[in-house]
Amino acid sequence: MRTLVLSDIHANLVALDAVLTAAGTWDRIWFLGDLVGYGPNPNECVERLRDLEPLALSGNHDWAVLGKLDTEEFNDDARRLVNWTRRELTEANLAYLKDLPPLHVAPPFTMAHASPRHPVWEYILDLQSALDNFDHFETPVCLVGHSHIPALFLLDEAAAELNFYLVGDAETIDLSRGRIILNPGSVGQPRDGDPRASFAILDDEAQTWTLHRVDYDIAETQRRMRAHKMPSRLIERLEFGM
Ligand code: ZN
Repeated sequence: MRTLVLSDIHANLVALDAVLTAAGTWDRIWFLGDLVGYGPNPNECVERLRDLEPLALSGNHDWAVLGKLDTEEFNDDARRLVNWTRRELTEANLAYLKDLPPLHVAPPFTMAHASPRHPVWEYILDLQSALDNFDHFETPVCLVGHSHIPALFLLDEAAAELNFYLVGDAETIDLSRGRIILNPGSVGQPRDGDPRASFAILDDEAQTWTLHRVDYDIAETQRRMRAHKMPSRLIERLEFGM
């Protein structure tokens, strides 16, 4: 079965549509949270994703928009966008977000927006945080988003070895090599220096995870953000993938 795995769309509809076109055919779609926040098309992104009937999680930006998470730890730009998004979203789209959990277990996969230990608020960016998190899920594979960086942590328990890799475009990972934490990167706001939208295809028969990067019309998303007078730092970062 081919599963399209997306994360961190962040209301960037142009990027989402480019990903859906590039992904081709798939059997099911999983979304790891942060559907809104930052981008100019929150309603359209909720509706586009919802129509695909995904298994979807909520992220910290979704929680902030819903008032389930204090925005104290957000920077000023992110907080401004949370407030803007809350005013923009329709009641029906808010209700859709409200029903999404931040963590879901479907053996052999665990899915969490941020980490299995703290599903909405922890960055797994180093070996120590990854190692700690391997104790917080029981399945062989855990899928996370949140960092916006396509990467994996591979734990080889026999060799007592933990490795970290950044995963590049068209790279395929063999999932049978040990316990793994995988991140598909971000559709709507990549932060690894590559501005292209990021997604992954999980093939559970072949036991593979293949990462893909796709160009999208960044200038169009920026134009829409400018039309809403969004902070220039958020507009500019898209073209640098930072
Ligand atoms: Zn995010």
